Amino acid sequence: MRMPDAGEGEVRVRVEACGLNRLDLWLEEAGLPMPLQLPRIPGGEIAGVVDQVGPGVEGWECGDRVAVQSNLFCGRCEYCVRGEESMCLSSRLLGVQCDGGFAEACVVPARALVRIPGGVTFVESAALTLAGSTAMHMLTDRCRVEPGQWVLVMGGASGVGSAAIQIARGLGARVITTGTTAEKRALGESLGAEHSVDVREADWTARVRQWTGKRGVDLVVEHVGGAVLEHVFQCLARGGTVVTCGATAGREVRLSLWPFFVKQQRLVGSYGRTRKDMVETLEWAASGRLKATVDSVLPLERGAEAFARLRRGAVRGKLVLIPGTAGGPPA
Ligand SMILES: [Zn+2]
Repeated sequence: MRMPDAGEGEVRVRVEACGLNRLDLWLEEAGLPMPLQLPRIPGGEIAGVVDQVGPGVEGWECGDRVAVQSNLFCGRCEYCVRGEESMCLSSRLLGVQCDGGFAEACVVPARALVRIPGGVTFVESAALTLAGSTAMHMLTDRCRVEPGQWVLVMGGASGVGSAAIQIARGLGARVITTGTTAEKRALGESLGAEHSVDVREADWTARVRQWTGKRGVDLVVEHVGGAVLEHVFQCLARGGTVVTCGATAGREVRLSLWPFFVKQQRLVGSYGRTRKDMVETLEWAASGRLKATVDSVLPLERGAEAFARLRRGAVRGKLVLIPGTAGGPPA
């Protein structure tokens, strides 16, 4: 296939690594609430090297190591102008509404690039720039975490969850996490969670209340949705917040309003990330405060196997695909 060329304001990025996300599965299943055009190359979590610079692009040159912000914001609307690119009125999802990174190269607007700091590998960047910055957006933009607060991170072995545990700990919080296997719970604890629990246990919310002295947690980092989101309110403290960025287990939920307003709780939506979140995520990675949790690095030829594993839920951390090589991961 012919390599795409960078147009006005665009760059071509040679893909060195691309993380696999739930979003890629939804694309394959036609499970996204947006119109899609086929054919489409999936893959939204890209790390690579600039290898062609289009007309009108300043500040980037061939050879620059870059991560790509996957919500391709317009840069002009009222939200973009004030730095809230995740609320852009006309953003496009990389790998969903335009071709993504499960390919040798992809063309993106130059404004979507963030420099990968020294000391952060392409694989680490690809494992953090979508999932890690999603967690960064939830914990530092959409909510605030005070030292000593209790934070419950759902699904601590997932990309978002594994980053959220580390970020919450880095901000001084005490963390409880969940996982559906002993291995996933052990991973969450190794990342800094003090306790972990399986949400399929009938009394799991009671155990969370017990660990917090019957008070409940101050913040829940939620991305599962469905019945799980309904249940987390049972272990939320008065004045506490549930911040959610996903709905893998269901997009429709029932919420009992009486305890919700009596306890003066908040339910906060979070979507994507801003450029600032991306930069911070990579800075945290460079300083060693945020470690990428990588399950496996596979060549792109084994992409179907990676999709199947993610669909089965048999993944701890991130799956990262490497295009154009059957060998080991790049530096
Ligand atoms: Zn915009």
